[in-house]
Amino acid sequence: MSDAAQPDEATTGRRVAVLGAGFAGLRAATAIRAAGHRVDVFEARTAVGGRARGEWCAGHWMDGSWPVLGGRDEALARFARDLSERGVGDLLTPLRPVQTALLRGGETRPVDGLQLRGAARIPGPPIWERPKLLRWGRLMGRYAPLLDATHPERAADLDYRSVADHVSLYFGRGALEFWLAPEVQSVHGDSVDELSRVALLLHAQSRGIGGRRPAPPGLPRRPLVELAQAAAESVAIQRATQVQRVDELASGGYRLELLDADGTRAESGFDAVVIAVGASEAARIARPLLTPAERDFFDRVEERPVVTLSVALEGVHAGLPQEIRLPRREDSAITSIVVEPGQSGGRAPEGRSQLVIRARDAFATRWADTASDVVAKNLLSSLELAIPGIGERVMTTHVGRASQAFFGVGHYRELANFAKVQRDRRDLGRRVYYAGDYLVGPTFESATRAGQRAADALLADLASEGDTQLV
Ligand SMILES: Cc1cc2nc3c(=O)[nH]c(=O)nc-3n(C[C@H](O)[C@H](O)[C@H](O)COP(=O)(O)OP(=O)(O)OC[C@H]3O[C@@H](n4cnc5c(N)ncnc54)[C@H](O)[C@@H]3O)c2cc1C
Repeated sequence: MSDAAQPDEATTGRRVAVLGAGFAGLRAATAIRAAGHRVDVFEARTAVGGRARGEWCAGHWMDGSWPVLGGRDEALARFARDLSERGVGDLLTPLRPVQTALLRGGETRPVDGLQLRGAARIPGPPIWERPKLLRWGRLMGRYAPLLDATHPERAADLDYRSVADHVSLYFGRGALEFWLAPEVQSVHGDSVDELSRVALLLHAQSRGIGGRRPAPPGLPRRPLVELAQAAAESVAIQRATQVQRVDELASGGYRLELLDADGTRAESGFDAVVIAVGASEAARIARPLLTPAERDFFDRVEERPVVTLSVALEGVHAGLPQEIRLPRREDSAITSIVVEPGQSGGRAPEGRSQLVIRARDAFATRWADTASDVVAKNLLSSLELAIPGIGERVMTTHVGRASQAFFGVGHYRELANFAKVQRDRRDLGRRVYYAGDYLVGPTFESATRAGQRAADALLADLASEGDTQLV
């Protein structure tokens, strides 16, 4: 079952279990390991990387996630730096710059929604809405003290309005449809009538929208999963091992019930546990430990289906990588398209291109159980309408299906309650920590932050126990 020994001597004698080898779990595991504790990671699949996993197909990297990263994804950058001796140093720095464009009525035009001057030039909104953009700086200044990328629950007091209501109220309906809904749709989906405005404010802060130093988005040079694979080399991982449940032992510590791919059951004991799997799975595994408030929290976390289509294309489609956004009024099944010209040693071979298409939320929900070839055919016909003639160059496609936490109005208030319960339980001596994108935001950056946050809390608790023991 175990495929890796503890790489170096652990020094503290404490045993920590990390459940899940996605970005949240691996970030937590490497940070806890670096502090000298013994760490065992349990991963249900044979491959690490969680939702970053994918496969090579005719020289193209095909995965199920959106590949564009924020230029200010600091937690991911730090993660890569920590692993630089394992050869992933140039994966993220520098990112390949991505030009953003808006598709309207069959025409694709470059836009710059990061600068207010650029936002004022985006075609679509009526001219009388433009002066409202001047409100941006004052509003962001007012909200900034509450916006914390690692602790989004600190903005709970702002979580009573949707993105659609917020933007229409302050900047106008045109700004919503052509500027800010397209800004967030590739990350959070296009359900801006339900998405909390806190999600938009945090996104705007991370991209530096309207600020002095905006951080343009970019593409990693290699598949992001390589970062997870490098992290996995520095900790002991038991792959193909699903954790069934976690129980607290009367004598102290925690017992994991494990199930391997052959159906063999086993048990293992630990001093502390980090649960870094999706919300519904976390609730299932931790059910024996949950307080009623935690159970309510997990019951209310909303996970929604997401559908992507990766497309390998003959020939170079454009000089620069592009993110083409389709406003909702285009009435397409597609919300955004990334066009990535190939390059030597990159995610697509030189002389070819790679596309990733994110389907609209309504499409993803309606087609959730439909066969992949039917989904691909539908999305390809929408792609042909958006970029005529492209269909002839399609070599192969890959449908990605995943579920993603949805940060609807009220979710940040739920997060604030959950964070409070976590503090109380820690004070009472519980050493179970949660990590995962549903606690911070639906991106690799947020998942990495969630993992670091769980590790920081655990390390602080173990250190204070050590101090108590010394006294
Ligand atoms: C369509 C799509 C779009 C995305 N868009 C973006 C984007 O725009 N920008 C961006 O930065 N990121 C994006 N992402 C990344 C993504 O949304 C996540 O935020 C990230 O992968 C979450 O990491 P995680 O570690 O929390 O969870 P996961 O990646 O889901 O990892 C959890 C791991 O736990 C394992 N596991 C589950 N149950 C058990 C169990 N019982 N026992 C043991 N192991 C278990 C799973 O196999 C998995 O490996 C996108 C992803 C998708 C699918």
